[in-house]
Amino acid sequence: MFTTREIVTERGILQYRRESLTGIRCRISPVRVERQIDAAPAMPSSRDGCPFCPGAIDTSTPTFEDGSRLRCGESVTFPNLYPFAGRHVVTVITPDHGPGRFDVRCLADAISGTAEALARSPGYASINWNHLPSAGASIVHPHLQGIADAEPTRLAELYISGGRCYLADHGRFYWDDLVERERCSERFLFEDEIFWSANPVPLGEREVRGILPISTLDELEPYVEPLAGGILRVVDFYRSLGTHAFNASIFFDAPGKAVQGLRVFCSIIARLNPNTFSMCDSAFMERLHLEPIILTLPEDLGALFRARK
Ligand SMILES: [Zn+2]
Repeated sequence: MFTTREIVTERGILQYRRESLTGIRCRISPVRVERQIDAAPAMPSSRDGCPFCPGAIDTSTPTFEDGSRLRCGESVTFPNLYPFAGRHVVTVITPDHGPGRFDVRCLADAISGTAEALARSPGYASINWNHLPSAGASIVHPHLQGIADAEPTRLAELYISGGRCYLADHGRFYWDDLVERERCSERFLFEDEIFWSANPVPLGEREVRGILPISTLDELEPYVEPLAGGILRVVDFYRSLGTHAFNASIFFDAPGKAVQGLRVFCSIIARLNPNTFSMCDSAFMERLHLEPIILTLPEDLGALFRARK
């Protein structure tokens, strides 16, 4: 399912890994952990001016077309004020500005609320989480982001098209073969309704993937609770290793496709702890969807350059 080429440098091993289905590549250099660039987290805590805290959320966040926000348990879902998708919603997970630990019920409700808001529009959906500024969150208060578009993001497309080819070639789901293989590997973590293991060709530090036995958003409901539980188990594991910031994305195929090439999967990566320098412009789209969000039109950049000559 992947290939490894290893060389030995003066400082240790260096691995070049490549995932066979998608061609995704990474380099693994264990010696670099000795740089110790991560430090104890400088946790941002100020509630002042937080638009997601109780008291502010009903006046500082936008509403859907009918003037409402979607509430599921303690979570609140509304449109993103600065969308980068055809449908782009934000879900505030809990009224608590800086919870030390997340509650499975709270996260499950937030995932359900986001899924319900996304189900109102067709297309390729994902549910995402940037946690803390060093993971690209511009607001500290814990929140999810749901996006849906007529086209899948780059990473989803790689797995959807690869999965279809694999099914045509082998007569089996890529994902079923992958689970069977990984279950016997050193990368296996735990398994209930969802299968969790360390991704052999990681997109980020300590990447863990959870694979669900479904393909689309409308099948998610029975798996929301184990999904929330699994995510929090991984997040707690990261925390026990000393990292508090992370990105997570849950990828879905579009509903109504004749041949489903994708199993719903959740990818989680650890990020450096927040520190005094750590506001960051790489978030779930850059790190997990492999599709960067750009603010400046290249044509405007050309005009700016010419204006300054
Ligand atoms: Zn807040």
